Amino acid sequence: MTDIKSMTERQLADFFKNMGQPAFRAKQVFTWLHRGVRSFDEMTDLSKPLRAQLAETCFITAPTVARKQTSKLDGTVKYLWELADGNCIETVLMQYHHGNTVCISSQVGCRMGCAFCASTIAGKVRDLRPSELLDQVLFTQLDSGLPVSNIVLMGTGEPLDNYDNVVQFLRLVSCPEGLNIGMRHISLSTCGLVPRIRELSQLDFQLTLSISLHAPNNKIRSTIMPVNNKYPVEELIRACRDYFAATGRRISFEYAMIAGVNDSDGCARELAALLRGLMCHINLIPLNHVEGSPLAPSSRETIRRFQEILQKKGFNVTVRRSLGGDIDASCGQLRRKAMAEKRNQNK
Ligand code: SAH
Repeated sequence: MTDIKSMTERQLADFFKNMGQPAFRAKQVFTWLHRGVRSFDEMTDLSKPLRAQLAETCFITAPTVARKQTSKLDGTVKYLWELADGNCIETVLMQYHHGNTVCISSQVGCRMGCAFCASTIAGKVRDLRPSELLDQVLFTQLDSGLPVSNIVLMGTGEPLDNYDNVVQFLRLVSCPEGLNIGMRHISLSTCGLVPRIRELSQLDFQLTLSISLHAPNNKIRSTIMPVNNKYPVEELIRACRDYFAATGRRISFEYAMIAGVNDSDGCARELAALLRGLMCHINLIPLNHVEGSPLAPSSRETIRRFQEILQKKGFNVTVRRSLGGDIDASCGQLRRKAMAEKRNQNK
């Protein structure tokens, strides 16, 4: 069976050509799919025999809402979607002044093993298809009635560990005939898979690359991020400098502030030295506490000091505002809770 929504319009054109259909079918079907139809029968401008033929060879992905939580504090909506195979993934919709942003998952689970992250605790189950990545944006928009203008690939999973599907998704979602969300409105966050960062830099995508750095040196980074053993800090930063040279796009660094681990004045100075001369933005994130983890967030005062040291060295530094604090809106928490409840039911 063919996953028809994972195809670009050009691939659909070849597909219909092989079926002996006129080329304009591609545009017709692409438009229907990206409006969120759940069956070929809804494609009313196709003949019934063609609809039946498509239904025999293709499937249309469409998740169902397994859970939905809306924050009373700020209107953030968190979806737990159930996929065709019963797996569940999370998507978060955040309302900012500059527009509505969805944070999507790139994999079911994650295998990167970062010490502070809830998404990786149960490991990776599977990659998400391009259609399943797209559906998170599409059905969040349809269900909420809110138009989505920005996308961040910062949910569960490592997007560059699902590289081909993520790249295909980026082509689909930015297509003018579809959701038409431009690359400049998309951020992709990675823990630092260096060869993939280099590949991405060759694609001429205008997206924002966001690096989960979280430490200024290998000693600290390797204790909290196993990926650092494979791609150490110097290699990662070299790839970032080359990425900027190739794309002209300013890089964003994420730095989760963890009490007593990476938040000293010395760390701030080391970070400034590491990133010297690189066009970037630094985003400090107060660590979200993960149940059962010994790691705790830095104090507000420590975060402010850290920010000041970097600012004095000329860096652009913001502290991330936390949304959806009342609805498990961060980092794999809802999926984790739902999985635990399912296990209890099965006992
Ligand atoms: N795998 C990708 C994207 C998913 S994580 C990546 O590593 O970038 C999205 C961001 O949330 C990353 O910066 C990640 O390090 C951060 N994060 C994960 N758990 C966190 C926690 N408990 N508190 C604060 N930030 C966290």
